[in-house]
Amino acid sequence: MAAQIIDGKAVSAKVKEEVRQEIEREGLEVGLAVVIVGDDPASRVYVNNKKKACEVCGIKSYEYALPAETTEEELLELVDTLNADEKVNGILVQLPLPKHLNEEKVIERISPMKDVDAFHAANVGKIMIGNYAFLPCTPAGCMELIHSAGIDVSGKECVVIGRSNIVGKPMAMLLLHENGTVTVCHSRTKDLKEVCRRADILVAAVGRAGFVTADMVKDGAVVIDVGINRNADGKLCGDVAYDEVAEKASFITPVPGGVGPMTIAMLMKNTVMAKRIQSK
Ligand code: NAD
Repeated sequence: MAAQIIDGKAVSAKVKEEVRQEIEREGLEVGLAVVIVGDDPASRVYVNNKKKACEVCGIKSYEYALPAETTEEELLELVDTLNADEKVNGILVQLPLPKHLNEEKVIERISPMKDVDAFHAANVGKIMIGNYAFLPCTPAGCMELIHSAGIDVSGKECVVIGRSNIVGKPMAMLLLHENGTVTVCHSRTKDLKEVCRRADILVAAVGRAGFVTADMVKDGAVVIDVGINRNADGKLCGDVAYDEVAEKASFITPVPGGVGPMTIAMLMKNTVMAKRIQSK
């Protein structure tokens, strides 16, 4: 039987509408600064989408587009200015940064209270403990999709492929917080196929088109595809070989239209949360 599609566009529209209503109801003035360095085309698309979502939600967005040659000192100075600016509740520095800039140093300079990506070590630590204000947008979006399909994580075998700081690791933590039995796989995992086949909930965050094939998926599994790749024809696709896996899974997220829009919706949610924290 073919899987049910979890519609990230619809769920993200609902989350954004809730944010919009919250802002309108309470007359909140919320601002998000988006910093982009250089002219990476994918980053430009992401930044434009984030600005569009701000408009939909009634959040003021401030874009800082800096040239690729920007020095670390200049970028850190801008972050300091935004940290001190009361109109700015959230600061997002679009990654990746050009090679000569130290991403970790830049992220650590953002005030944890304005770190709406939840990449700062202080926020990552809070997520580990389970006492957090912000959740990283992509894993939080995946959880929202899982919930929207009425899936209870508790006691389920959950397998996350990928261990990056922005997706794989926090994803594993969020599944653990909901009492999943979690395994994290990576490029050195032995018998990847066998491990994946155990999964009731399989999350792919690898960055390779068609990586997860049907023989890696248990019948009836829930498959969440985080990957954003281009296939040989230049078409946007995820990490999952969609057509064959959809025949086996119970639920599946498409690419595009799955996790991607959720990431942006959760960013909007975090920005309002940042406003609340700063107003206390
Ligand atoms: P990354 O490159 O930092 O991490 C990839 C992970 O995959 C690594 O931990 C690595 O160990 C693992 N991996 C690589 N080869 C493997 C193999 N052969 N077997 C098992 N594991 C393997 O990437 P990332 O930043 O975590 O992003 C992953 C994907 O998700 C990318 O396609 C990225 O574009 C996408 N992404 C999407 C969103 C979204 O909003 N939908 C957000 C962030 C990232």
